[in-house]
Amino acid sequence: MKIYTDKDSSLSILDKSRIVVMGYGNQGRPQALNLRDSGLDVTVSARKGRSGWKKAVADGFAPVGIEEGARLADILLFLLPDELQGKIYKEKVSENLRKGAAISFAHGFSVAFGEIESAAVDLILVAPKGQGERLRKAYLEGSGLACLIAVANDESGKAEKRALAIASGLGCLRVGGFPTTFREEAVSDIFGEQAVLCGGVTGLIKAAYDLLLRRGFSPEVAYFECFEELKIIVDLFQQRGFAGMRDVISGTAAYGGLKYGEKLISGEMIEGMEELFDRIDSGEFARDWLEKASESPEELESLRRQERELSIERAGKVVRGLYDKDGAPKTREGT
Ligand code: NAP
Ligand code: MG
Repeated sequence: MKIYTDKDSSLSILDKSRIVVMGYGNQGRPQALNLRDSGLDVTVSARKGRSGWKKAVADGFAPVGIEEGARLADILLFLLPDELQGKIYKEKVSENLRKGAAISFAHGFSVAFGEIESAAVDLILVAPKGQGERLRKAYLEGSGLACLIAVANDESGKAEKRALAIASGLGCLRVGGFPTTFREEAVSDIFGEQAVLCGGVTGLIKAAYDLLLRRGFSPEVAYFECFEELKIIVDLFQQRGFAGMRDVISGTAAYGGLKYGEKLISGEMIEGMEELFDRIDSGEFARDWLEKASESPEELESLRRQERELSIERAGKVVRGLYDKDGAPKTREGT
């Protein structure tokens, strides 16, 4: 696979382009700051008087409203929440876009699932693989985050060059840009969230913790073993791969994990994963989420509330309370 770097891109293609970053949140703020620090002409577009607008002013931008942002943009970085993008695009953005403009997304969701279709402008994807805060921190340290890059519509004939230049301005091409499609990025990103990152792993931890409590173990001990040490292991396999991680853990842990632990992932669980995939791939998940986000937001609120009330969250507070925010131990009376 071709991996793009700064050598494949030229920022000068954006010399006369006004870049409008619409939405000044998790991704919008770091992306706007990185692009400005890369010497590009960046304007922030946000809702007047709200927190994004205020932060943009504090960071030295002179923000404009949503419609105005759409009118001014040669390249519009569309960094609003996915569940609102289709509606805001139809009501406030689409009719205001300039001919020859490009919309750049950080996630393939809206285009892949048909919320946004436009034959009149470039549709490009530059999806940094990580949270906005990390994107900014890495940029300031002279590094970057890898990103995925795609083109869904090339109206100007230079959509790919524009995508590469944005990726370069964000600092991502210091590391690497991987070609993909909107659909591949959207389906795999959501599948990864559900099957592993934000569902599979959290569900596994909760189930293992609950089992230890049922067998009479204390919440704090169960928390240490099933939750607290996860980060240590993840850091190890992120740095060294799975096999490298096994090399530096005990033989007991390596043997038990490989011979018995991984057998947990059995037929029924794989079938469940296939169902997750099919629900996402068919667009059913996107339809369900968009409907819930607009018609019954209380469902997500209730799911969040139930999680906050779990025993493992209480045990976590006790354990996390042993350290200050930088991970240093708190000195406590009597110890
Ligand atoms: P976000 O922080 O949740 O929201 C961005 C901004 O949208 C907020 O600051 C909010 O500003 C504004 N907003 C909310 N409702 C609005 C409305 N009705 N009209 C106008 N503005 C509104 O979004 P995000 O997490 O950065 O996500 C943006 C894109 O980046 C998405 O496509 C997402 O998938 C992608 N992405 C996110 C991450 C991540 O780590 N979060 C990682 C990779 C890609 P105000 O309330 O202040 O107006
Ligand atoms: Mg995601």
